[in-house]
Amino acid sequence: AIQKVAVIGAGIAGLSCAKALQALGMSVDIFEKSRGPSGRMSTRRTQDWSADHGAQYFTARDPRFIQEVQSWIQASTADIWMPKLKVYENKAWRDSSSPDVRYVGIPNMNSPGKYLAESMSIQYEKTISRLERKGDQWSLRCGEEDEILGLYDFVVLAIPAPQASALANDLDARVATITTSAQMQACWTMMAHFPKQTMTDFDAAFINQEIISWICQNGSKPMRQGQTWTIHGNPNWSQEHVELSKEEAQEQMLACLTRLGVHCQDSEISMHRWRYASGGLENAIGYLSLPDIGLGLCGDWLHGGRVEGAWLSGLELASEINRSTQSSI
Ligand code: FAD
Ligand code: NAD
Repeated sequence: AIQKVAVIGAGIAGLSCAKALQALGMSVDIFEKSRGPSGRMSTRRTQDWSADHGAQYFTARDPRFIQEVQSWIQASTADIWMPKLKVYENKAWRDSSSPDVRYVGIPNMNSPGKYLAESMSIQYEKTISRLERKGDQWSLRCGEEDEILGLYDFVVLAIPAPQASALANDLDARVATITTSAQMQACWTMMAHFPKQTMTDFDAAFINQEIISWICQNGSKPMRQGQTWTIHGNPNWSQEHVELSKEEAQEQMLACLTRLGVHCQDSEISMHRWRYASGGLENAIGYLSLPDIGLGLCGDWLHGGRVEGAWLSGLELASEINRSTQSSI
């Protein structure tokens, strides 16, 4: 029977999977390469300002995720956000007629992830660099020093496709087939902080047919203050220009904003490049479970490329791991 599970990646998929496995009585250790949980549901913080620079909000359509979001709201870690939303299309601005309910973490986008992480065993700043099969267990190796992190009955890779590919393509052809058929795209992100009050007639806007796809005033979200905008490059442009320097990407995005009539003069600008931001499998399979070798994959890229899909992917993989354990007894 599976007793010890290692989950690699403390994004929303890894956290969801770990929580469900723990509830089933398994012992779970999470290993995360960065200094905190939540992955792409993230917030950039400086001395003077902070802004969500990855996921901007999430929607909930599946009843299981709707219930989860309600529990986050109850725990004061998420809330509804009702922005004045515009759309720029065919060189003209209009109001958005989208009736969707959108949620954000409070006070930051990483708050639900931090909340889920509270009850878990997580080791931060541990980049898993190698998995080694020892009998019917896995030995995890970390970093350039090849540090040994312990033996596990089952390993869950809750990381983007290219990173899962680097770790596990050599271990199993089924993993290689799935990871190499996933297409993930980059996202150039600009954060513009204004020292003074700024005036726009929208809180957030979808931008179509331009190199920018999204503009959002972070202060319009619940429990945020200050004047910082998050501006995302569109996936195709970001991917094609992924190797630009931050300065070059900033210059092109500023030129686009000027064309749109949105001015960022007098703002302090900070750039971030997400290498694996969006996309995934064209036909979502939800998760990949390989009980014969004790390996599973979950993440947004297997389940539609959104926060909701990432959370569901982790949950569904955990149920499948439990099912395969039960049937092998
Ligand atoms: P991640 O959040 O990427 O988690 C993976 C974790 O694994 C990371 O913490 C990473 O540090 C860690 N890791 C990677 N490799 C290793 C390793 N070798 N060892 C240890 N740890 C490792 N979704 C929406 O629903 N709405 C939006 O508005 C939205 N906007 C977005 C905007 C941007 C710019 C980006 C980048 C994403 C956006 N998304 C949005 C997508 C959403 O953020 C993701 O779908 C979701 O957060 C993915 O969760 P995940 O757990 O699958 O992956
Ligand atoms: P959503 O807000 O995108 O979709 C709900 C509704 O919003 C749509 O039915 C539509 O009415 C409206 N809408 C969405 N995009 C629009 C557009 N370009 N122009 C006009 N109206 C638009 O919510 P969701 O379904 O949860 O999708 C998540 C969002 O996260 C998507 O917009 C996706 O682009 C974004 N995302 C971005 C990245 C990134 O790298 N920047 C990564 C993953 C997801």
